[in-house]
Amino acid sequence: MKKSIFWFRQDLRTFDNKGLIEAIKNSNELLPIFILDKNIIPDFLGLNDKKFLFLKEALLNLDLELNKIGGKLTIYHDYPEKIIPEICKKYNINTIFTNKSYSIYGKKRDEKILDFSLKNNIDFLSFNDFLLVEPEEIEQRKVFTPYYKLWQKKLIEKGYKIENPVNFKQIKNDFNIKNFLNEKIPGESHPYFTMEFGKNRLENYIRSDYETFRNDLDKDGTSKLSPYLRFGIFSVRQIYNIAKEKSTHYVSELAWREFWQHIDYYFPFTKEIEFQENKRHIEWRHDEKLFEKWCNGETGYPIVDAAMKQLIETNWMHGRARMIVASFLTKDLLIDWRWGEAFFKKHLLDYDENVNFGNWQWSASVGADPKPLRIFNPCLQSQKFDSEAKFIKKYIKELEFEKAERIHNPIENLLIYNDIIVNHNEAQKVARIAYKKTI
Ligand SMILES: Cc1cc2nc3c(=O)[nH]c(=O)nc-3n(C[C@H](O)[C@H](O)[C@H](O)COP(=O)(O)OP(=O)(O)OC[C@H]3O[C@@H](n4cnc5c(N)ncnc54)[C@H](O)[C@@H]3O)c2cc1C
Repeated sequence: MKKSIFWFRQDLRTFDNKGLIEAIKNSNELLPIFILDKNIIPDFLGLNDKKFLFLKEALLNLDLELNKIGGKLTIYHDYPEKIIPEICKKYNINTIFTNKSYSIYGKKRDEKILDFSLKNNIDFLSFNDFLLVEPEEIEQRKVFTPYYKLWQKKLIEKGYKIENPVNFKQIKNDFNIKNFLNEKIPGESHPYFTMEFGKNRLENYIRSDYETFRNDLDKDGTSKLSPYLRFGIFSVRQIYNIAKEKSTHYVSELAWREFWQHIDYYFPFTKEIEFQENKRHIEWRHDEKLFEKWCNGETGYPIVDAAMKQLIETNWMHGRARMIVASFLTKDLLIDWRWGEAFFKKHLLDYDENVNFGNWQWSASVGADPKPLRIFNPCLQSQKFDSEAKFIKKYIKELEFEKAERIHNPIENLLIYNDIIVNHNEAQKVARIAYKKTI
């Protein structure tokens, strides 16, 4: 009798879930589990964050999906290294199935579980599910364009399969998911990112005009699928399968997502220090007051402030806006990109360690990017990507009746909300000097 666990992590679906499908194929009885990891979420207080409402709905949805194939989801709030051995003992488990993790913590956690399984004659099997092409399947590249060529070639060569799960026999227990989740996470669903919303985005927002509108902050031109990819609500193969018929540009964005996993694989030190050796000694300004203004959306630059308010309110920020605020923090304020990375980690629903580190280093011009220095002018960005200031007015109500031309240039126009905290024209000169000093 083969009894197994399938351990869900960032793959909260049954459809095309590689590890789950293997677990079903190779087990007589199966216990699907999810662990609210106490190393990350030590107590219940942490669960008040509205980001957890997304997780709650995703877990309930996953339970319903499992019900359709004969199973149910059991959730633990515990330390994986403690609870997994307990579950294995209680149910006489032979094999632990899961999908591969890519974060520093995830890799270390899995090493501990592997160690336990080796010592106890239990198999620990981890499958590739999260990416189209694994980082190590491509030889080391430091720049996106050559990486992308190899990535496309590899993907065609290896192909991909989208699979349906079949029914399985559940290991019985009396766990009640609704009681458990209602007690741990009060509330129903995230105010913006619900399962229903995600389904609609998947079906209708991977579009052939993606390239035309993807940068416009005032249009709904991107897919908003990042939280769903991050938690594996949809499989990347499912998304790619739609995208390849609609937009090659969209496909290249999926490759960017994998490029940062590739960079982490070959250059793991980038979690500590800058990718570019000559950018490791920039004299950052450790100014907590300026940082707080940036965090709260009080810089006086409406485009920056609206974006920060979007992040805090919705747990998501438009990709163009992420580049604008990251450039502003690191160039205009000369504040260490690590501070920005940590703030995004706290607020983003789609937070992915490798993608966030990679993009922050890229935005700070210290990462895997052949261009020596990029400084975004917030006034020009505002004019170009939110010409009528619709995006800004949505998040900064005080500017509702202000003219767009005035909003775009807060250096020359006094606006009735916040004074500018730095003058971009001056600040960018200071940044150029600070960056030059390190070369
Ligand atoms: C400073 C900074 C930090 C970021 N942190 C994250 C993060 O923690 N998690 C995250 O998923 N994305 C991050 N991004 C990348 C990007 O901004 C988001 O993936 C994108 O805005 C999500 O919105 P969307 O789903 O509508 O994207 P779309 O434009 O619809 O793109 C489709 C998918 O492609 C991927 N993608 C798009 N752009 C990028 C990119 N630059 N890098 C990697 N993948 C990309 C995402 O998975 C996205 O869902 C960051 C970007 C910057 C500049």
